[in-house]
Amino acid sequence: MKTAGILSIGTEILRGYTLDTNANFLAKFFKDLNIQTILTATADDGLDSIMHGLDYLRQCDIIVTTGGLGPTEDDVTRDAAAAFCGRKMSRDPAMMQHIMEYFTARQWQIADSNWRQADLIEGGQFIPNPNGTAPGQFVLNGSQMIIILPGPPRENHPMILNSLPDILRKYGFTDGVLLNKIYRIYNIGESSLADAVKDFDFGDHIVGYYFTEDARVELHISRFANDKNEVLDPTMLHSIEDIFNNLGWFWTDDIPLREILMKRLLDSRQTIAFAESLTGGAVSADFTLTPGVSAVHKGGVVSYTDEIKHRILGVSQDALDRYTAVSEQTAAEMAAGLRRLYNTDIAVSLTGIAGPDGGTEETPVGTVCFGFAVGESVTTARFVFSGGRDRIIKKAINCAYIELLKIMKIK
Ligand code: ATP
Ligand code: MG
Repeated sequence: MKTAGILSIGTEILRGYTLDTNANFLAKFFKDLNIQTILTATADDGLDSIMHGLDYLRQCDIIVTTGGLGPTEDDVTRDAAAAFCGRKMSRDPAMMQHIMEYFTARQWQIADSNWRQADLIEGGQFIPNPNGTAPGQFVLNGSQMIIILPGPPRENHPMILNSLPDILRKYGFTDGVLLNKIYRIYNIGESSLADAVKDFDFGDHIVGYYFTEDARVELHISRFANDKNEVLDPTMLHSIEDIFNNLGWFWTDDIPLREILMKRLLDSRQTIAFAESLTGGAVSADFTLTPGVSAVHKGGVVSYTDEIKHRILGVSQDALDRYTAVSEQTAAEMAAGLRRLYNTDIAVSLTGIAGPDGGTEETPVGTVCFGFAVGESVTTARFVFSGGRDRIIKKAINCAYIELLKIMKIK
């Protein structure tokens, strides 16, 4: 098994301004490719520090650095890597042309220092960066491969996923390609998922459970193959789908739920609006991140108080008094009221207790009631989510999407 070392470069990491997520991302990536990360290091932007860092990782088959590839004089990762390999650098004419086109297309002025990003270590090759000006590069240093990447995650993550597997395979640092399938599901814990699949025979597949930032659980099933055209065993995938169907609504496409909902609404030519209490507009804001959303999203009401629920959305005083604001009755009236008010095909409401205070025995912190007015029919749902205020709000957003998608699927 080949070994890897990761060098994160950036004074800002060592001052506590930036959390080093690059090393974490790379460690996961290498694990998936069956490469063992044995060392990580962090260096400030100085040439000496970077040289020390590289020296510290010298026993690794693969060394990857992130950061310090910017255009300014204090971005010296290229120089350090060249010196570490005992190579010169030369300015690559094709890359200069590319930089020129990149800047011209954006009507940006090119500073002299920008040309430094066209400097290529002797014997090295560039790794394209579709999201920025600084390309990465890799060079073989004897039997070792050195890969240098820009610092911003939004630039280097796609480079890692799209370019590195092929490069590493081509030069014999990994045996094959990774076949991968991801099942995504919300509203269950990692342990419930683990329980549900505990007797399942995954054969020699690599299986991982991940709990993501936005409170969903993912099951990753992967296997190395020597041929790109191989696929994961369809019979096995079918059986996993059966398990997931019993757990709830799941999806395998690599797109956010809001985009799945948006597509469903566009396809069925339906409009939507959100009446939000505990989420304070967060569902509407999240949904609005989808480009082109104006075709389906009419607007929303943040009805934080009983007064607004009653006066704007027309929730009856009776429902508020009898069942309280956090109840399925109130949620139903909020959704129905907003659908009438905004004249949409669908309205979704959320009312609940995000905490940390305000919970009671019947209605504990984390309780969220949802109303779904779809045409003339109104359905409701009630969940009690765990976690802090942030987590509860995130779970509520995702739950609103999922429950609505379930209802739309049946219709
Ligand atoms: P630039 O052209 O933007 O200067 P660069 O390759 O020189 O790119 P850095 O200047 O080192 O990269 O970092 C730019 C930004 O990328 C940092 O301010 C930080 O937000 C982010 N970043 C850098 N390194 C890391 C890291 N290890 N983990 C997470 N974010 C990082
Ligand atoms: Mg920089």
